Amino acid sequence: MEGEAGLGSASLRGLQVYFRKVYFSRDSARGAERTFLWFVSEVGEAADALKDGDEHKLRAELADVIAWLLSFCNVVGIDLQDAVVEKYGSGCPRCGSIPCSCD
Ligand SMILES: [Zn+2]
Repeated sequence: MEGEAGLGSASLRGLQVYFRKVYFSRDSARGAERTFLWFVSEVGEAADALKDGDEHKLRAELADVIAWLLSFCNVVGIDLQDAVVEKYGSGCPRCGSIPCSCD
């Protein structure tokens, strides 16, 4: 998993395992609420980059968003791949269709 090649082909679960290796010790010490606030802060920075039309910054901020989200999931013990598959694995959870046919 270490190295750009391994990370580049990682599944969502693989990314979560990677961020556990990189940040779990620090983030578990920080705690769930403060780690979640960092995640929200990064969403705000991504929104600023979108508003500014700065595609390079948006790309970097979205990487931060997924890093903090997966780090938060590690702290609270949620396997995000399982959660996503459980909710969205059969298409849109509201209409059950692929593609979504909701209005
Ligand atoms: Zn739908």
